[in-house]
Amino acid sequence: MHNVPSSNCEKSSCVCCGSSNNQSYNPLLRLETGETDVEEYVHLFCAQRDSRFGFCWCCGRGAVYFVEDLNEASECANHEGESVPDYPDEDLDSYIEYVRKGD
Ligand SMILES: [Zn+2]
Ligand SMILES: [Zn+2]
Repeated sequence: MHNVPSSNCEKSSCVCCGSSNNQSYNPLLRLETGETDVEEYVHLFCAQRDSRFGFCWCCGRGAVYFVEDLNEASECANHEGESVPDYPDEDLDSYIEYVRKGD
């Protein structure tokens, strides 16, 4: 189990658990903080477990964000507005609105 291919991951460790990269099982993902001079990493599993972190559906599983940096459509700042603005909730709201006005 010592033949784990590690490139530049030795100095990186997870901000959640402090462990290092496990490329095949539990890879470290870049934590996108918006600050380019700070490089922080979170394990895929740690990010999925921790409610502080979320994923942008556009970026996929390549980067982790703080949930407060994602909008309600799970988009990062770079991908804000990429979603089709057609949320079921809004449809329901406008439907209710329509029904009420009709009364
Ligand atoms: Zn971790
Ligand atoms: Zn994104």
